[in-house]
Amino acid sequence: MLKRCGDSGISMKFLRANAPTLALERVRQLAHAHFALTGAARSLYSERDQNTLFREQDGMGWIVKVANRDEDPRVIEAQVDALAHIHSTDALLPVPRPRLTREGRKTASFRTDEGEEHVIYVLSHLEGRVAAGIEWRPELLHRVGQLQARLGRALRGFFHAAVGGRELLWDLRMAPRHLELAAALEDPAQQRLARESLGRFIERVAPRLGAFRAQVIHGDLNEHNLIVTAEEDITGLIDFGDMIHAPLIFDIASALSEFMTSPERIPYVLTHLLMGYHEVTPLEPGEQALLYDLVEVRLVIAMLVAAYRRSQAPEEPNYFAANGAGAVNVIRALQDLTRAGFDSMVHRACVAGARRPAARSTVEELLARRKRVLGSRACLFYDRPLHMVRGDGVWLTDDTGRRFLDCYNNVPIVGHCHPTVAAAISAQSAILNTNTRYLGEQLLDYAERLAAKTGGELTACVFVNSGSEANDIAWRMATEWTGARGALVQEFAYHGITEATHAFSPSTNRSGTGASHVRTLPPPDRYRGVYRDETEETGRKYAEFADSAIESLQRAGLKPAAYFLESAFMTNGVLEPQPNYVSEVFRRVRAAGGLCIADEVQAGFGRMGQHFWGYQHHGVVPDIITLGKPAGNGHPIGVVMTKPDILDHFIERTGFFSTFGGNNVSCAAGSAVLDVIDTNDLVHRASDLGAYFKARLKVLMERYDIIGDVRATGLALGLELVMDRQSRTPAPAETARVVNRLREEGVLVGSEGAGANVVKIRPPLVVERQHIDLALSTFDSVLRAL
Ligand code: PMP
Repeated sequence: MLKRCGDSGISMKFLRANAPTLALERVRQLAHAHFALTGAARSLYSERDQNTLFREQDGMGWIVKVANRDEDPRVIEAQVDALAHIHSTDALLPVPRPRLTREGRKTASFRTDEGEEHVIYVLSHLEGRVAAGIEWRPELLHRVGQLQARLGRALRGFFHAAVGGRELLWDLRMAPRHLELAAALEDPAQQRLARESLGRFIERVAPRLGAFRAQVIHGDLNEHNLIVTAEEDITGLIDFGDMIHAPLIFDIASALSEFMTSPERIPYVLTHLLMGYHEVTPLEPGEQALLYDLVEVRLVIAMLVAAYRRSQAPEEPNYFAANGAGAVNVIRALQDLTRAGFDSMVHRACVAGARRPAARSTVEELLARRKRVLGSRACLFYDRPLHMVRGDGVWLTDDTGRRFLDCYNNVPIVGHCHPTVAAAISAQSAILNTNTRYLGEQLLDYAERLAAKTGGELTACVFVNSGSEANDIAWRMATEWTGARGALVQEFAYHGITEATHAFSPSTNRSGTGASHVRTLPPPDRYRGVYRDETEETGRKYAEFADSAIESLQRAGLKPAAYFLESAFMTNGVLEPQPNYVSEVFRRVRAAGGLCIADEVQAGFGRMGQHFWGYQHHGVVPDIITLGKPAGNGHPIGVVMTKPDILDHFIERTGFFSTFGGNNVSCAAGSAVLDVIDTNDLVHRASDLGAYFKARLKVLMERYDIIGDVRATGLALGLELVMDRQSRTPAPAETARVVNRLREEGVLVGSEGAGANVVKIRPPLVVERQHIDLALSTFDSVLRAL
């Protein structure tokens, strides 16, 4: 029986009346009949319902809940619906998952021998123990705040009539009725305090509540409704029995008051719990201003409920008693603190929360989600993966608000989220975004600007959406043009993910056998290649491998259609080839009827300094160049540029068209990237800063024997690590350690090369000398500690 509270008419649901007491065998039989549960069963303590834990063979735990016969079945249904809704909106929120009946219904019901009807339903068991009494460390409170806000967000689109107009004891809008409980307080001073506080609330606050955002809220977050592991990590949030449609701010106000168990905890709880909440769901200024009143009146209600309960059932265990008694002291401390003092703490917590990027999920949660949707093999950087939430220039910010100096990513060539590029994308996407089968200026402007960068030598463009696509199309152009089917690539090259380009990417070939139409050339590696000096003669000797490769193709009945050059030799270990190597290979390939394709996906756009394109460093002009990665600074753009007759021939034979390639927004992004590069003379800066970076790395090399070689062209830099300088044995484990240590110290780099022992450094071209100094001093300390 739910007792009524005086004349107030508010449900006093806490009274332990009529909790069902079925025999375990009976519960087992019902659980099997309705919910197909067969596992081992044991009873759990509950104040109101009868709870039984079933452990199924698959290890899953389910709690069979036989509801108190006074529980409104519609409210139970609302709870089950809400939990299902939460799972569909934020699957990783740790709340119980409802189990449907055999017929797919949310609940079942049955009649006891005494003729009482009970609802029975099943929720998944959250492993761990109730958090009551644990030490609420700052980060835990912070997570509770985040969790509550996430739960609120997950419930935003939920409604159920049973929780709509519900009259609930803890609903602050019931304040006029709470006034009637004040008589239960024995101490006249406490009575006065309660009456004044409720009176103020009724007069000044309640009339304004209708103007605040409202939704269904959980409304009952306290340490008895949180589940923690042995390590006191939060793993669950339970008890949806007090859900109500109310101003959203009630949720956090109630949690704040629950955790403010003593006066000293007021600033602590405000700082950590509120900050966590505000990070996920920023409170509106009006809501912030309301918190003092809400927290105060919530504490008053706790005090009243405890007193009332004492007066009605002095012999019953009184879970609220301690809270109620403590509440008086906290209310007095709040009043001493003054509203202004409280508000300024609220303000500080919210400002701090707003500055911290919202961390919606832990790394573990994200990993679990990734596994589900991306499979278990999807690659991640670093031993401790990073969750980036913001990018700005050379900086990336992770979910904890920590900034990392990005010396790795070669896509954001003009810096992360460059405002010029972002604005161009945003503006164009609000005007028009269509395809190249319509006339338009953006496409032509962009193509002309790219063509001009080649000195007018490669003026015919096709637009696609990635580097792989660009290389794939370049390959098709080459085969159409030459009629040949053979290809030459470097030994540890990477050119893409399509079937054709994967065959040109020995660096990702896990099968061990290369494609039968592809021949690889040893990289012109002065440090560990077959020939190590820097003479022109050596360049020619390396180029002679092209002759043998062409002969090998011929023996297989093939001719070379193309040689793919990656001008920075990045995947081969960021090499600096001999001066005439590339021109000598080009000459040989062309003599055999093949085309020369420069894959500028990494080397282009000034990465190598001095020239806009990588191939220009080798004194050659390719027949085709392919662009990707930095072209859109993160917006997907791929381009193939060639001579007009090669392009016309290709389109004639293939009717080439790419739906997204060359769309208006991509062209706006691409042009904006060129604007930033040109305006800031980033290409020449890359030469100067790259030379500085390289020289300083060479100084480090004098200090650390593990550095076997330092190589760089512009801002494409490589640091080769070896076990000892004599044998030059690669040091891949140490390289991985350096990369991971640097990440721990806030500098992002990668590793590269056939021996996985080259530290790869490619900062955005907007990097400044001070950033390079920071990177170098971090390298220094990491190498020292190795
Ligand atoms: N070519 C080179 C040289 C690359 O580095 C890459 C990407 N790493 C590609 C082609 C493929 O580009 P995307 O990933 O955009 O398909």
